[in-house]
Amino acid sequence: MRPATGPDSKSWPDPLLPKKFSDMSELHKFLFDGVPVRGMLVRLTDSWQEILKRRQAAGGYPVEVMHLLGEMTAAGALMQASIKFNGALILQIFGDGPVKLAVAEVQPDLSLRATATITGTIDPGATLSQLVNVNNEGRCAITLDPKDKFPGQQAYQGVVPLFGDQHEKIENLGEVLEHYMLQSEQLDTKLILAADGKVAAGLLIQRLPVKGTGNLEGQIDRDANEDAIGANEDYKRISILASTLKREELLTLDVDTILHRLFWEEPHTRFEPLAPKFACSCSRERVSNMLRGLGAEEIESIIAERGSVGVTCEFCGAQYDFDPVDAAQIFTHPDRQQPPPASVQ
Ligand SMILES: [Zn+2]
Repeated sequence: MRPATGPDSKSWPDPLLPKKFSDMSELHKFLFDGVPVRGMLVRLTDSWQEILKRRQAAGGYPVEVMHLLGEMTAAGALMQASIKFNGALILQIFGDGPVKLAVAEVQPDLSLRATATITGTIDPGATLSQLVNVNNEGRCAITLDPKDKFPGQQAYQGVVPLFGDQHEKIENLGEVLEHYMLQSEQLDTKLILAADGKVAAGLLIQRLPVKGTGNLEGQIDRDANEDAIGANEDYKRISILASTLKREELLTLDVDTILHRLFWEEPHTRFEPLAPKFACSCSRERVSNMLRGLGAEEIESIIAERGSVGVTCEFCGAQYDFDPVDAAQIFTHPDRQQPPPASVQ
């Protein structure tokens, strides 16, 4: 990032925009005036710290995994906020290294949760490929799970590898997701991500599609849009400015300062910030459904062995215990999970 040296830097900070260093998670959307480029900046603070706190009882995450998961969570919030979709956006990395699975899930109201499954030893300073792409078999999946599915409707899933055109390993999650946005959405995107133990943050710059919107939201004029990929000068200029943002700056500077320093020469309109928050969607009912899916025989054998069935939510640490009576009820009263019939008025 270059320092602000323009004529208006003397009067900065703008008295109309009081500097505030928020302890609350925030997501800011902005639109560059008169050019087909939009941006978003997310800083997850309290929500990210809550995700880490929920893992403390299980020993917490190694710092390298924490960085990865924080970047995924920030990216998930940006991607959810950039599409118009009524359902969960689930960003998953299926790793072939010591991290088997990392998941960040973001709802349309920006409530979010994240978790990682570690099965091997994490070397200090491990890179993205050393964590999840040792043999170039790791992959990243983006799933859009509609909230109100019609019968037979499937979740939409796009998968991208963790390597580039020449099979070279990609060491930067932002770059992996830029490939996804280009391949699946036909959208030029610049994504800068960073996380530490306090903040998970990200900056997204995106060229607006030529007509209509991305394919997750509806149809676009593909021919016209493909002609525009990589060709828009405004997008190129603004994304180059964005790429000067350093990790340390993204983590330590407040939103007003970042946007002013990067884009003081690029007029843009900001919108009312949104407030991402931590929330877990687990419930006893969902766990019951999951146990029912395992089948009575499997559950009975666990009861015979351990006396009860205990399930811990990987996302929030909530513990669900089923004694033999509870467990039997899962199978004898399946109807109780159904919503009650609508009452006749
Ligand atoms: Zn939970």
